[in-house]
Amino acid sequence: MDEIEEGRPITFAEVTREIEAAKRDGYARIDFFGGEPTTYSFLADAVRFAEDAGLETMLATNALRFASAAYAKAFFRRARPLAVRVSLYSHAADFHDRVTKLPGSFEKTLAGIRNIRAHHERIGVSVLIMSENANRLAEITELVHGLGVPGIKFIGLIETDRTGHAYPELAYDLHALKAPLAAAVAKADRLGMIVQLEKLPICIAKRHAERFVQEAPDPTFFKAEICARCVESPRCPGFSRPAIERGGMPAFAKPITRRG
Ligand code: SF4
Repeated sequence: MDEIEEGRPITFAEVTREIEAAKRDGYARIDFFGGEPTTYSFLADAVRFAEDAGLETMLATNALRFASAAYAKAFFRRARPLAVRVSLYSHAADFHDRVTKLPGSFEKTLAGIRNIRAHHERIGVSVLIMSENANRLAEITELVHGLGVPGIKFIGLIETDRTGHAYPELAYDLHALKAPLAAAVAKADRLGMIVQLEKLPICIAKRHAERFVQEAPDPTFFKAEICARCVESPRCPGFSRPAIERGGMPAFAKPITRRG
C-alpha cells in the first residue's frame, strides 16, 4: 500500500480510488505490502474491495497482527487474498528479533503464521537472505514446513536501498551461498514444498531456473558481459553490484546456454 502513496498514511477512499484506477488500466492483481499493511484498520475491507472489483489480491505481512486469533478470524471472514506471504528472517528467535528490532516478534510471527494457516491454505514464507542466515536456510525451511506452510521463497538481499542506505553488515558471500541455497531447495523438495527464488542470479541454481520469479528491476543489479550469451538473461536480474565489488565474480557465474 505504501507504493500507492509514500511518506504519509493513506485513507480507505484513496486506496479504493487507486484500485479502481488499476482496474481501468487493465491490471489483474493488487499487491498489499508495506511497511506493514495490517497497520491499516481497513485492510480487510480494501482487499475485499479489490476482490469484488474482480482483481486478484496478494498480501505481504510480518504476521504480527495475525498473532491475535480473533484478528485472523475476522480478517479471513472478510477477505480471501489469492496468497499471503509472511517475512521470516531466521529459525532462531534472537536473530529474527534483532532484524525486526522488536523483542518477541519471532514468537508472534510464528503464532501469526499458525493463525493464518488455520484460515487460509495459500500461505508462503519469504526469507530474506543475510549474512547470519545464509548458512541456515535448510533449518529455516524445516521450521516453515513444521508450521504447515506449503511454500517458501528465498530472496537475495538488496544491499543498498532506494534511499541509498547500504547494509554491508547484512551482506553475504554470493559464491558461498550456492551450496546452502542448493541444500535448502533440496530439503524443501524432499518435504514437498513449493520453492521460489528472487533477486538472485539464475546461474546460482540453474537447475531450478523455472523457480526464479521476476520482480521490478533493482538499480543495484547489473548484467555482466557473460550475460549477453545467456539464454536466461531476459528474465534474470543479474548480479548485485555491491556483492560483486566486494567478493568478485563467483565461480558459478557462467552463461546458461540452453534451458533445462
Ligand atoms: S549469466 Fe547473467 S543472465 Fe545468465 S543467469 Fe547468470 S547472472 Fe543471469
